[in-house]
Amino acid sequence: MDNSNPDNKFCKHCGEKIPKDAVICTSCGRQVEKLEQQSSTPQIVLNNSNYNSTAGMVGVKICDKWTSLVLCLFLGFFGAHKFYEGKTGIGILYLFTFGICGIGWFIDILSILSKPNKYYP
Ligand SMILES: [Zn+2]
Repeated sequence: MDNSNPDNKFCKHCGEKIPKDAVICTSCGRQVEKLEQQSSTPQIVLNNSNYNSTAGMVGVKICDKWTSLVLCLFLGFFGAHKFYEGKTGIGILYLFTFGICGIGWFIDILSILSKPNKYYP
């Protein structure tokens, strides 16, 4: 008479009467219902790496590419662009080494050209 119990269902594997909300058959132990996707599937949570990158830029000077390029072209031997970028130490080094014999100066022109405008030195 309890076959009509609406809280029960029958296992499709062994035919035993099992609770309606059972996912695994209480008799044969086989899966009778699709498992709900719960915490078993690891959720890919994108870390807020943007926050980190912006935090790292605090205190970093934003340089204008073209200003830096003009400074480098005309006063690069004296490290003017390095002073502009806030790299005083290298600027002084350039001042006494003529842009490290012109090689550093030449490389800097190319590197500034390859940078996007409003770059972070
Ligand atoms: Zn079963």
